[in-house]
Amino acid sequence: MVIEASNSVADPRLDTGVDAITNAELLERRERAVPRGVGTAFPVFAARAQNAEIWDVEGRRYIDFAAGIAVLAVGHRHPAVIAAVEGQMARFTHTAFQVTAYEPYIELAERLNAIAPFSGEAKTIFFTTGAEAVENAIKVARYATGRQAIISFTGSFHGRTILASALTGKVTPYKRGMGSVPSVYHVPFPNPIAGTTVEASLKALDYLFSADIAPEDVAAIILEPVQGEGGFHVAPPEFLRSLRELCDRFGILLVADEVQTAFGRTGRMFAIEHSGVEPDLVTIAKAVGGGFPLSGLIGRSELLDTVPPGGLGGTYAGSPIACAAGLAVLDVIAAEGLVDRARRIGERITTRVEAMQRRNDLLPIGHIRGQGAMIAFDLLAGKGTDQTDPDAAKRVSARALDEGLIVLNCGSTGEAIRFLPPLTISDAHLDEGLACLEAALVNEAAV
Ligand code: PMP
Repeated sequence: MVIEASNSVADPRLDTGVDAITNAELLERRERAVPRGVGTAFPVFAARAQNAEIWDVEGRRYIDFAAGIAVLAVGHRHPAVIAAVEGQMARFTHTAFQVTAYEPYIELAERLNAIAPFSGEAKTIFFTTGAEAVENAIKVARYATGRQAIISFTGSFHGRTILASALTGKVTPYKRGMGSVPSVYHVPFPNPIAGTTVEASLKALDYLFSADIAPEDVAAIILEPVQGEGGFHVAPPEFLRSLRELCDRFGILLVADEVQTAFGRTGRMFAIEHSGVEPDLVTIAKAVGGGFPLSGLIGRSELLDTVPPGGLGGTYAGSPIACAAGLAVLDVIAAEGLVDRARRIGERITTRVEAMQRRNDLLPIGHIRGQGAMIAFDLLAGKGTDQTDPDAAKRVSARALDEGLIVLNCGSTGEAIRFLPPLTISDAHLDEGLACLEAALVNEAAV
């Protein structure tokens, strides 16, 4: 497949003018037609997009630092992804893999098995959403170990189905009033900013094992190598190594939830590779589909093969269109060197944010952290304090929109600004987005 070197040139078909509808009209219709339970970060509506740019229905252009929540690692409408999808659509769009299987699914599994972040034989099964991948990781872990209990971490996010939100380490808004599931336990995620050391987290596991559940009854420990929604906190390598040892000692499976981190985002194909720790099961979604709904579970063959036929799957799981897109995504990541590019993007962002942090005419910036192109920083209540200011963070992302930038918050109280630009973004667009953010920080400080 021939891949065009860059997709930063707007498709001429995009310059067709402005839709005859306003953001305000759509907002009103949205509020009447769609429940408020599905929040929307910004009151603007997408009309079209190309690589790292989005135009709203009124023709206003934005630099996109959200990339559809870490989905568009290869940018909006990468030509290779569009060509692969159009090629697949011309052949067939759906058969259900469980009825009539197809090559794109198998080929994508083969290619992911070859890069699985663990030694030994791997297999991959596909689903549609990140939460579904997480659900299936737990199903496999329970089946393979014959155990029920799952350990997860505070501040984690694993999705919005009942099990995935039960695993999620944040009550409001994800689980309050919606109940939970039994046999799920949480321990503190090590977070130096919150004062939680690796030792404290490991001690909490000891307490759990003495007070609530024997380690021999635990099926899996699930964690994000870099917490995404929770604030871009990186799991310390020594913590991951301790978890691996613990899992080996008690026959517990280690599940890396790489839904937000995988496919180059952190400067490695999988974030867990930074630590050298090998997980047993890896959940993937977001970037792999290049904008088409696709998720998967990569795991040790001997674990995935325990479940008998029929125990796993789904009508739309591993859609041929999404698998075709996934193959193109892997091609683009390799051809355009996006794993290295993620590191350079991260460095460029960090240098610029550090410079902003030193200035006195901006809202005060706290801890800058992350891995590769997955960087976040806190907004502080004042210079010299550690107290975060979630309201300021929300005002900054709202103000950034006025400046022409789409950028998201994250963190347990929404106290952080997070960068998730497409890895295909040009330096010019990256700098333009950073300038918009800087203007937002200056203008909010002046209010
Ligand atoms: N796990 C992680 C680490 C995530 O970041 C997310 C989504 N933000 C999910 C799971 C759930 O994915 P989805 O929304 O596709 O169900």
